[in-house]
Order: sequence, then structure tokens, then C-alpha cells
Amino acid sequence: MYLAVIGKEDIKNGLNIIGSHVDSPRLDLKPNPLYEEADFAYFKTHYYGGIKKYQWTAIPLAIHGVIVKKNGKKVTVRIGEENSDPIFTITDLLPHLATKQMEKKAKDLVEGESLNLLIGSIPYNNKEISESVKLNILNILNQKYGITEEDFLSSELEIVPAFKAKTMGFDWSMVAGYGQDDKVCAYTSLTALMNVQNPKKTAVCILSDKEEIGSMGNTGMETQMFDLFISKILDKLNVNKPNLINEVFANSKMLSADVNAGFDPNYADAFERNNTDYLGRGISINKYTGTRGKSGGSDANAEYIAEIRKLLDENDISYKIAELGKVDLGGGGTIAYILANKGVDVVDCGVPVLSMHAPYEVTSKYDVYSAYKAYEVFWR
Ligand code: MN
Ligand code: MN
Repeated sequence: MYLAVIGKEDIKNGLNIIGSHVDSPRLDLKPNPLYEEADFAYFKTHYYGGIKKYQWTAIPLAIHGVIVKKNGKKVTVRIGEENSDPIFTITDLLPHLATKQMEKKAKDLVEGESLNLLIGSIPYNNKEISESVKLNILNILNQKYGITEEDFLSSELEIVPAFKAKTMGFDWSMVAGYGQDDKVCAYTSLTALMNVQNPKKTAVCILSDKEEIGSMGNTGMETQMFDLFISKILDKLNVNKPNLINEVFANSKMLSADVNAGFDPNYADAFERNNTDYLGRGISINKYTGTRGKSGGSDANAEYIAEIRKLLDENDISYKIAELGKVDLGGGGTIAYILANKGVDVVDCGVPVLSMHAPYEVTSKYDVYSAYKAYEVFWR
């Protein structure tokens, strides 16, 4: 989704853009997901984004998404979130029998093809026919959603943790919740945009998809759809002309609103203390991203960082300029480079997170509020 509040100033002078992503690491259902084995019914899954697979066993899971029938009718699925809903789970091996399993490397502990979701165990009408447990599930799905097995072929069903987002700590200082990468920045930026009135420059909010798998496709940030959106705005303002969009981008500024790794004392070895971010110290700014020698990263120029420092200091917003962990341990990227390639001045800034990409992520309420304030003053 792209949103804009048209500014008072000539749009040729550029936009103020804040962009986040709304997809999070998860398990997707395969196109042919349903099978029966040993009197259990299961869904086959294919993981989406960077996960530690072993973290997804033995936790409550919910199913969200859509099933689109051939006639175009769309069925929305949301099950596992209400207290009265059933949940689902992926089983793990009991420790009593796990001697061999525990000797494996963590990346092989649970294999991709073992992430099978347990969804049922009762045979249809208690009849002794083949695959009667699967048949019973199909019967339930048909009654509940009006679908047949083939309809999974045109579905997008996502398995996510069924944990509620909760206040965390005796001091109520933190938030634990799934998918805070990057919904914590999507939420704060969207909330800030809703409070923007008569901005000087046109305020643009991007909520992009597919960031966790490389921003590809027509809902990912790599798509030309964003250019079309801006071009349509230029049309509606009756100012469009050849190359104007390039000039608009060249004069635009952007905050790439994405989370950063917060310092975790339990894993202190992964961080370099002078250039790491700590929870509770405000919004986190990454001048650059990337892996190894900053490869694949987006690097904000010093002039733009100076502007952002000035803006945050003048508005008493706490921030820290940091890196994502130690050099050569790994790294990552965001959608920043895509807008930077169009000529936009972009810097990454967002909320520091503990346990990023795990089923339950931790943030500080102070940082969430600081991010909201930063996004609000940037647009104002
Ligand atoms: Mn992210
Ligand atoms: Mn991520």
C-alpha cells in the first residue's frame, strides 16, 4: 500500500517518504498441502524468510490468508487467534529419544520438510476407509469455508505464531510479539501519517510486501508500481511532464523504516559495543547496511545524516547511530537501496529488536514511541 498527503510546496521540490515492510518470516502452506499419515492429518509448509526452523516446533500456531475459488470468490481464513479457536502445532521429538537429534547442527535439527502442521486426528464417520482422517478434515473445511481440496491450489495461507502481543517485564517497559520486524515500523509510520495535516512537502507512506524474500514481485519494493503511483499524483496535480518524476525523486528524502538488532547481553559476542544499539535509548539509525565489506548495502551520505541529526536533536528525540552486529558475522538489508537507486536520499532508521525473526520478538516501548515521534517530525 502506498499513501500520500499532498503538500503545500511545489512537488518538484521532492517528497518526504517513509517506507516499511509488512511481511514477516513465517511458514506458508504448499499448493498441495493436505495429507494423512498414521491416523493424523497434516499440512505441508514451505518457510518464508530467514527463520531458525527449530524455533517453530512445539508452539501454538494460527492460520491466516485467503483461498480464491475458480469463480473468483475469495474466502478469508483467520483461525487460531480467538480464545474460542483451535490452534495448530508442529511436533518435536521427546528428549528421551533425541540423543541422535541433539548431536545435529542447529541448522539441520529440524529440516524444512519436517515442518508439517498437525491439523486433525479423527476419521470421517469412524469408517475404516483409506485416508479417512484427511477426508474428515476436507469435510470440515467444506462446511466451514465452502472449499474443496483443489481450491488450495489458488490459496495463500500463512502459518504464524498464535501468541498475543503482550506487555513485558515487571516494569511494563517492553513489548513481546510476533512480526515486530517490521510491523512495529509500519504501525508507527502509518499512525504518524494519519496525524499529518497540510505538510510542506508531500508526505508518502510505503507499506511494502516481500521484503523478507528480496523485495521482488509486483507487491515487493522492486516493482515499478511505486513510480506509477507517484506519476498518477503528478497527473492529478496537472503538473506531469517527461522526466519530472526523476526530478521529484532526485529531490526527495526518505526514512527507510525497518528494525535493527538490539544489543543482547546473552549474546554479547555478536555485537561491537561502540556501534551497536541498546533497547530503551530511542530510534536506531543505520548509516549503512550490507554484509562483509558492506556488500549489497545502502549507505546514506554524510550531508543527509547531518540533516536527520539536526531534526531529531531539535525535537528532543533520542537516537543512536549503530550497525547491525559485528563485522563479518552476517548482516542484512532493507528496501533503502531501491529508493536510493532512484536518486532519493535514504537512511535506515527503526526500532531495535531482540530475538529478531523469532516467533516472539522483543522491543522497548520507549523506542517504539521514539520511532513514532521521529516519523511524525520528519513529515511535519
Ligand atoms: Mn525488516
Ligand atoms: Mn526481517
